[in-house]
Amino acid sequence: MAVNSALTRFIKQGLSRGVCPLCRVAYKVEGEWMWGFFDEYSGDGDTMARLESARGFCHDHAERLRRLEVEGLRSNLGVSGIYLDIFHALSHRLAELAVEDELEPAGKCPACAVRDDELARNARYLIEEIGSSESSRARFAESDGLCLPHFELTWRTAKEPSQRELLLDVQRRAVNAVVRDLLENVRKQGHEYRGDPDEREASSWQRAIHLTAGWSKEALRDDPPEPGRRYELPHFARVRPKAAREEA
Ligand SMILES: [Zn+2]
Ligand SMILES: [Zn+2]
Repeated sequence: MAVNSALTRFIKQGLSRGVCPLCRVAYKVEGEWMWGFFDEYSGDGDTMARLESARGFCHDHAERLRRLEVEGLRSNLGVSGIYLDIFHALSHRLAELAVEDELEPAGKCPACAVRDDELARNARYLIEEIGSSESSRARFAESDGLCLPHFELTWRTAKEPSQRELLLDVQRRAVNAVVRDLLENVRKQGHEYRGDPDEREASSWQRAIHLTAGWSKEALRDDPPEPGRRYELPHFARVRPKAAREEA
């Protein structure tokens, strides 16, 4: 049975862009979640409690927040308010911490948690999509494969031998192509060979990085907004942080 197309839109975008479809899912889900967080969740006690227990965003998501507000909106009011709450909680915890106490490990970054849930769901959608749609299967078969972390997830999710067979075929071909192109790229840049590697060979080292570490943000990003386009100021920029509200 075909999967609801609203659920697979990011997967299809990934397949048509020639990137790992689950990297595209992760990128879009994180982006939408960060906007939502910035706009309203940051006013939500439960999300802020999880963020306080995580002791702030992980490096990637803090960077995403910085780009969203400080670069995109040219403001730091939202990010300052968010971290004011986190630092109040941190300051309380350190005030209570005695030298004989163990410090409990930080909770998971809430943006990572949402992304990982969505990835688990989307690994299932991807398997169903390439199993049921001829055109998606053809695109996937011609692709550079899944990045290894997402291959591992999808492999674990695929239960049928026929599903694993397709995944394995594509992944073997993608990896072997990188081996062949890297070899040629190295050989053709050597002293004894006077000639240029072709385009696929010359970019093979980038594919090697994408396939192992995941596709780069540049490859996953939508086209940049036209110069001069202004974002709407999110609702949150007008919301006062919890700490300031309590002190008022
Ligand atoms: Zn990936
Ligand atoms: Zn994170």
